[in-house]
Amino acid sequence: MIIDTHIHLDDERYRDDLDDVLNRAREGGVKQFIIPGADPKTLTRAIEIAEKNDDVYFSVGVHPYDLDSFDGLNFEAFVSHEKCVAIGECGLDYFRLEGSDEEKELEKQKQKRVFVAQIELAKKYKKPLIIHIRDASRDSKALLLEHKAEEVGGVLHCFNADDELLSLADNGFYFGIGGVLTFKNAKKLVNILVRIPSEKLIIETDGPYLTPTPHRGQRNEPFYTTFIALKMSELLEVPLESIESTTTQNAQKLFHI
Ligand SMILES: [Zn+2]
Ligand SMILES: [Zn+2]
Repeated sequence: MIIDTHIHLDDERYRDDLDDVLNRAREGGVKQFIIPGADPKTLTRAIEIAEKNDDVYFSVGVHPYDLDSFDGLNFEAFVSHEKCVAIGECGLDYFRLEGSDEEKELEKQKQKRVFVAQIELAKKYKKPLIIHIRDASRDSKALLLEHKAEEVGGVLHCFNADDELLSLADNGFYFGIGGVLTFKNAKKLVNILVRIPSEKLIIETDGPYLTPTPHRGQRNEPFYTTFIALKMSELLEVPLESIESTTTQNAQKLFHI
């Protein structure tokens, strides 16, 4: 049994064949699915899917690429839903910053404000965080620690293999491992994988993005978590069944599902 802890089922690219996608995954051993909140515009779709399928959960949050929707979002209304298991994905992403140094700095400040606000909401509602970090390890770690995010914990989704973040394992954080692990150029992630405590590992696809080998180039889907689990088993030299049971228990513990 596997849990896909990060799958954007509310994405348009699953609209036409969502039931097939879910059934393929279920038959392949994927038993639970979490739709991360990213863009509030598709949140109602996520809730609709979670209400229709017992094994699908959702979270509510604002991605650093969608900051402007934060102020208008009524978190309270979503957090109280019985299938809402987390806050996020939220975090810092400096990868696409544009403009002058001042403009970049302003954008960073804005990202930080919205991230901190979501850490506070997670603590208020006692929900774990789904955290997105890209090219911003140091600032992200500082904010998580400064605002005591360990009270609720969370997952560093699509873990970027940065050493800087590894110590967060001691503060109740988990590491989401996805298709990148199967890529030829994933040396950094492959090397750091053995250093992540096994009780902090969870599996995700981040579909429709980051499709693992041998399906790279196609749309990603939860069934492909199988390839990620297999690769983990190979690299960690641990039987596939224990990878599946460990990561499943970890995810259930973190998200209380
Ligand atoms: Zn993300
Ligand atoms: Zn995502």
